Amino acid sequence: MRDLSENFRGIEPYTPGEQPQNSDRIKLNTNENPYPPSPSVQTALRSFDCGDLKLYPDPNMSALIDALAAHYGVGRDCVFAGVGSDDVLATCFMAFFNSGKPILFPDITYAFYDVWANLFSIDFHRVPLNGAFEIVKEDYYADNGGIVFPNPNAPTGLDMPAAAIEDILKNNSGVVVIVDEAYIDFGGESALPLIEKYDNLVVTRTFSKSRSMAGARVGFAFANPTLIRELNTIKNSYNSYTLSNLTMKLASAALSDEEYFNETVGKIIATREKYKLKLRELGFEFPDSKSNFIFATHPKYRAEELFEALKASNIYVRHFDAPRIDNYLRITVGTDEEMRALTDFFEEYMREAEK
Ligand code: PMP
Repeated sequence: MRDLSENFRGIEPYTPGEQPQNSDRIKLNTNENPYPPSPSVQTALRSFDCGDLKLYPDPNMSALIDALAAHYGVGRDCVFAGVGSDDVLATCFMAFFNSGKPILFPDITYAFYDVWANLFSIDFHRVPLNGAFEIVKEDYYADNGGIVFPNPNAPTGLDMPAAAIEDILKNNSGVVVIVDEAYIDFGGESALPLIEKYDNLVVTRTFSKSRSMAGARVGFAFANPTLIRELNTIKNSYNSYTLSNLTMKLASAALSDEEYFNETVGKIIATREKYKLKLRELGFEFPDSKSNFIFATHPKYRAEELFEALKASNIYVRHFDAPRIDNYLRITVGTDEEMRALTDFFEEYMREAEK
């Protein structure tokens, strides 16, 4: 067969966390929510008319956009949606990072940013976090082609006050600043109120974490109408129908149940705080996470060894073989029972090692 590889793009893809298919595993590796979606999602699914599938979905996603606008108290022309926030972020990269100047993001951050930058031929510069793994706002005042960072950051879990984000926005009025708020519902301070004041701000969100719908793939963004129009232009230049009829209905149903949202997010925060104490007792060290994961290192035990030992016991966490963070484990906050199984495992492992 002829070698066709010279026609290929030759890109290094993002490596998603494992999705083990055995049901008896404890899965703390991809920051999913351990609780099911709101019962109102199940109700919407049951009442869904499969006849609707014969039609293309509304390309303007009007019902979902209206529900998001009403829920978050913004104009409907300030909202965009896509297939998970990955799709929304990728669309933002295509739409806003075209000046030819390098974009900036932290050296330790969501590993998809440099993949999209490479995919879309966007020059980029990784700005080092400080020794405490914090984003230093002044480091983002240099000339650049745009900025993107998560708040709270991933995989560190550390948040940044909205006042610091405002300073970054003020010092970068000529470029678009994307604040990726995938984990904001677990404790950080949202930059959403700033979209009225700063026309260069995009805030992205997701249904994957706090609304337990990673499998449905729904993300969204807030910005001023000019930026939202641009996002729609890009979306309509590669795929008009991103979200399905069914997905949009399920997402609107999830939004309608604020009580369940508050209850499950509250449980995850309580479990996180409880197991921060337990992990600290076991000798782990970690930044003070405001997200649904804890980024932990141990002075005595190598992260990679712990990762492999956990996996052999059917407990999945995430380990990144990357500079500065290769001795850390990113542990998604599960239920109390799942976290208990994890810390019981660590206790036993350490007891054996001390023998
Ligand atoms: N941003 C960050 C920081 C993330 O960790 C993730 C989850 N992998 C995403 C965005 C994308 O999530 P989703 O596409 O499921 O909305």
